[in-house]
Amino acid sequence: MDETDISFFKDGFRLDGRRADQLRPVKIEVGVLARADGSCYIEMGGNKVIAAVYGPREVHPRHLQEVTRAIVRYRYNMASFSVEERKRPGPDRRSYELSKVSREALEPVILTTYFPRSVIDVFVEVLQADAGTRTAGINAAAVALADAGIPMKSMISSCAAGKVADTIVLDPMKEEDNFGQADLPIAMTPGGEITLMQMDGGLTREEFHQAVEMAMKGARDIYEIQRNALVDKYSQLEAPAEEVKACE
Ligand code: UDP
Repeated sequence: MDETDISFFKDGFRLDGRRADQLRPVKIEVGVLARADGSCYIEMGGNKVIAAVYGPREVHPRHLQEVTRAIVRYRYNMASFSVEERKRPGPDRRSYELSKVSREALEPVILTTYFPRSVIDVFVEVLQADAGTRTAGINAAAVALADAGIPMKSMISSCAAGKVADTIVLDPMKEEDNFGQADLPIAMTPGGEITLMQMDGGLTREEFHQAVEMAMKGARDIYEIQRNALVDKYSQLEAPAEEVKACE
């Protein structure tokens, strides 16, 4: 099957009923794992992803230590049952690439110099995949880092735009990603500083600008959801007893 066998639009709407510039529903839960220092569960459409953060803690093996800063490790893993055709367990070229680019998307905002000789470990487990797992993973990881109390300059939000049937669309789902003409995931700070940009397929210069604009708008909307999820969790916490007393 290729792109020509699929009709991507029906009456102006996409296969899942979305407009071209519409995100899939996003749901974020903060602090879902008791044993991690920070964690987050995210659903972006059909993607279900969990992120766990550990650290800052001592680096093992020790020769990886950096004297002036913490190192950041990011492991992206796709569960065998997360995709239609069972994925062979264990790392592969794709997961190495996604781990690398995702780490690079987050590292610029982490204040690593506060923690020399330490490591911050980020684990991302994809439980269900429907295209856009790297963007979902980065969104969950950024929230999990904040939940772990890791000092960061800002949040990072990630979203992709794609091209199907000569139309630029936001947040492509699996059929659009696998059989479309292009895919352009980005990650950025709320201020619009881009920390990840990749591209598969082909776009004209004009389409490229349109896709970047659209993906940035999607990332801004995701930022609001990340922020609300963190505010929800932390505004529910009661102030420590001494603080309450001091206020009385
Ligand atoms: N996919 C799959 N098997 C694989 C890898 C990917 O079925 O071994 C599917 C999965 O739904 C994934 C999508 O193809 O989300 C797009 O994969 P891509 O490599 O573009 O990364 P993603 O869009 O998930 O970041």
